Amino acid sequence: MSIKSFNPNRIRNKFPILNKKINNNQLVYFDNAATTQKPIQVIESINKYYSEYNANIHRGIHTLAEKATQEYEKTRKTVSKFINSRSEKEVIFTRGTTEGINLIASSFVKNFIKKGDEIIISEMEHHSNIVPWQMICEENEIILKTINVFENGEIDLDNFKELISNKTKFLSIVHTSNTLGTVNPIKEMIEICKKNNIITMIDGAQASAHSKIDVQDLNCDFFVLSAHKMYGPTGVGIVYGKEEILEKMPPYMGGGEMIKDVNFKKTTYNELPYKFEAGTPNIGDVIGFNEALSFINNIGLDNISLYEKELKNYASNSFNEIEGINIIGNSKNKIGIFSFTVDKIHYYDLGLLLDSKGIAIRTGHHCTQPLMDKFNLEGTARVSLAIYNTKNEIDYFVEKLKQLIN
Ligand code: PLP
Repeated sequence: MSIKSFNPNRIRNKFPILNKKINNNQLVYFDNAATTQKPIQVIESINKYYSEYNANIHRGIHTLAEKATQEYEKTRKTVSKFINSRSEKEVIFTRGTTEGINLIASSFVKNFIKKGDEIIISEMEHHSNIVPWQMICEENEIILKTINVFENGEIDLDNFKELISNKTKFLSIVHTSNTLGTVNPIKEMIEICKKNNIITMIDGAQASAHSKIDVQDLNCDFFVLSAHKMYGPTGVGIVYGKEEILEKMPPYMGGGEMIKDVNFKKTTYNELPYKFEAGTPNIGDVIGFNEALSFINNIGLDNISLYEKELKNYASNSFNEIEGINIIGNSKNKIGIFSFTVDKIHYYDLGLLLDSKGIAIRTGHHCTQPLMDKFNLEGTARVSLAIYNTKNEIDYFVEKLKQLIN
């Protein structure tokens, strides 16, 4: 499909929820950074698992168990291809980005980073990429440093370089900010880290549905994402880690599945990736995730990026014409995420009033309180766009917002 033949309505038809009326108005779903809607193929595949081959995986030899294992492992193959990892062993299923970051903090950082060493994050991180580091730093007497973010929402690369010392051992940075939409120059940052022997972790929660991710090209050591922000189910995510690093790391949780042999003298652990997948996983949703990736692959990330860029520019131009609106962050490289305040209307009221018109937006601090503090804000309203959104929806939003302001 080329961008010329791209038809958002054909895509919208695949999402049953988009036909819904909210408060007697057609739903306009602009809360995609929180979670995306799910196409019918994802919903049906989960239904199919439970109605046709529900069984636990890896352990059973009966037909249902083999089918469930096959489908579950199929998703791992698709993810590996999707992010271009060298091996499927480098893909570990988690509950989502948050669990992925906690896994890396508990297993890698706790064991390989020493007292007095330093970890760098940035001021624009989501709480999931702040709090696990604070916890591990406090426990292990590691120092946590934060990279400055400019007023326009871009990261201060000079400040990043200044923060690096011979004690810096780890960088954990967001690829694309859920509040500002900023796309960080992560490839450049990873290169700087490589020269300084710093291990890198990329929070890809807001990136992976919008642009191509190639972990080998990026050369990051870890990459985490959540399926539910990629048209997939909730409760599924992945940690990508370089095989040689994952091999050295101890398990994150103990239990079934992650062992080779258990006895009271010494337990040995399973091979990668199972060493990190203790207990019965979220089988049905992992299977559903495969369909979400097919959905993205069928459109093509190049087409998605092109269409979303056009939509973002359209939204940006339309919003700039609204009197009384203040957009937070206008980075040169950003995706369709717009945080804003409106003079004299509290963001919370704005959210409620727009909801009465069928428009779903996010309000609050977006789990980025330190960033809000930086901009002297308690919270904002946020519009975040996805592949099924249209210019008509943006026009409708602008019309309703103007009415509210007037
Ligand atoms: N990182 C970023 C940038 C996010 O936007 C989010 C969710 O909004 C997360 C991490 C946490 O993702 P999850 O709640 O799926 O674990």
